[in-house]
Amino acid sequence: MNVEVLIVGFGLAGATLAHTLEAKGISFHIVEDSYDGSASCIAAGLVTPLTGKRFVKTWRFDEIAPVVNAFYPKIEQKLSTKFWLHIPQIKVCTNDFEAQQLQKRSIDPEYTEFLGASVTLPSYIHQQYGAVTIERTSLLQSQKYIESSFEYFSMNGFISNQRFVYEDCTISESSVSFEGITARYVIDCTGYSFCKTVFGASLGLEPSKGEILTIRTDVETLPYVVNAGLYVIPLGDYLYRVGATYGLLHDTTEPTEEARLLLTTRFENLWKGTYEVVAHDVGIRPKVPDKHPIIGKVHPDFPIYTLNSLGAKGVSYAPWSAKLLVEHIFEQGLIDKELDATRYQPK
Ligand SMILES: Cc1cc2nc3c(=O)[nH]c(=O)nc-3n(C[C@H](O)[C@H](O)[C@H](O)COP(=O)(O)OP(=O)(O)OC[C@H]3O[C@@H](n4cnc5c(N)ncnc54)[C@H](O)[C@@H]3O)c2cc1C
Repeated sequence: MNVEVLIVGFGLAGATLAHTLEAKGISFHIVEDSYDGSASCIAAGLVTPLTGKRFVKTWRFDEIAPVVNAFYPKIEQKLSTKFWLHIPQIKVCTNDFEAQQLQKRSIDPEYTEFLGASVTLPSYIHQQYGAVTIERTSLLQSQKYIESSFEYFSMNGFISNQRFVYEDCTISESSVSFEGITARYVIDCTGYSFCKTVFGASLGLEPSKGEILTIRTDVETLPYVVNAGLYVIPLGDYLYRVGATYGLLHDTTEPTEEARLLLTTRFENLWKGTYEVVAHDVGIRPKVPDKHPIIGKVHPDFPIYTLNSLGAKGVSYAPWSAKLLVEHIFEQGLIDKELDATRYQPK
């Protein structure tokens, strides 16, 4: 089989790249090992314009938001599946500092479009320091997006279920062959796994381990996301995703008691009702130190590219980065230095 692009990995990066290539009529094939253990399948799926304790506007939000808001609805239509929601986010301040930061933002012209009215939440939610709406929040049901995309591309014969190994490839200046597939370009979308390979080892990728709980409560699912130092994301049927933790990967990719305790303690500071933990998941977010995506060619002599380092904002970054990368390879688009895949490579 001859194709233009061999996509390796089918998480948010690989799936989004596949849809982007298909929309441009560029031939591709996907090699995926087992997507259901990926970070993408456990992501909370939130797209939020403001992040962190200081409510800073997401990096390049004005550039990214229009691409994201056009991309996912188009794929919903293509797959006849619903996974993209516009949902209110309520920021519940957990201390005076946060309340003051929000107050400052509310009079800053760059932020006023994102901050809505103060709200009063149901009595079972603790809100001593006040709560306001954060506008322009969206939610991708990421597992549904990946699963329905996988089914679509599998049905059309675009996916091989196998482990890709660079050492088993024949690689020249102008092509890469692997298990009977010859491609002009390989685009590696294997997330954190890429740093364990010969082409990804020097790019500065670091693992950020994230743990997240699924909790069943005894009250009807809320029609909004609550952000109170942790996100409480409604799933329907009395269920919520609650998380996430951020930390370097030390010794284990397994769920830890420490993370469970941290999340349940924070949840109990917010939620006065009873609950039970019904699932505890772990994912590894790939990131480089500036936490921005890395896209482009990773070796001067071989046609190996990557779309990686989606960090904690994979849902926002994936469609925008995929678009820029495809335009770079096929339409001579430029990749600016802030996104260049080799920016952390020792010179
Ligand atoms: C707890 C948690 C919560 C999160 N919440 C959010 C959120 O609310 N909003 C947001 O935007 N982002 C969130 N993220 C971040 C988001 O999940 C990541 O940015 C994104 O999933 C990274 O996608 P990826 O495709 O680069 O990597 P991955 O999801 O890791 O996918 C890589 C894929 O490559 C495959 N693969 C690896 N090696 C090989 C090989 N050799 N051969 C074949 N296939 C291979 C794997 O099986 C996998 O399917 C969260 C992450 C975590 C962990």
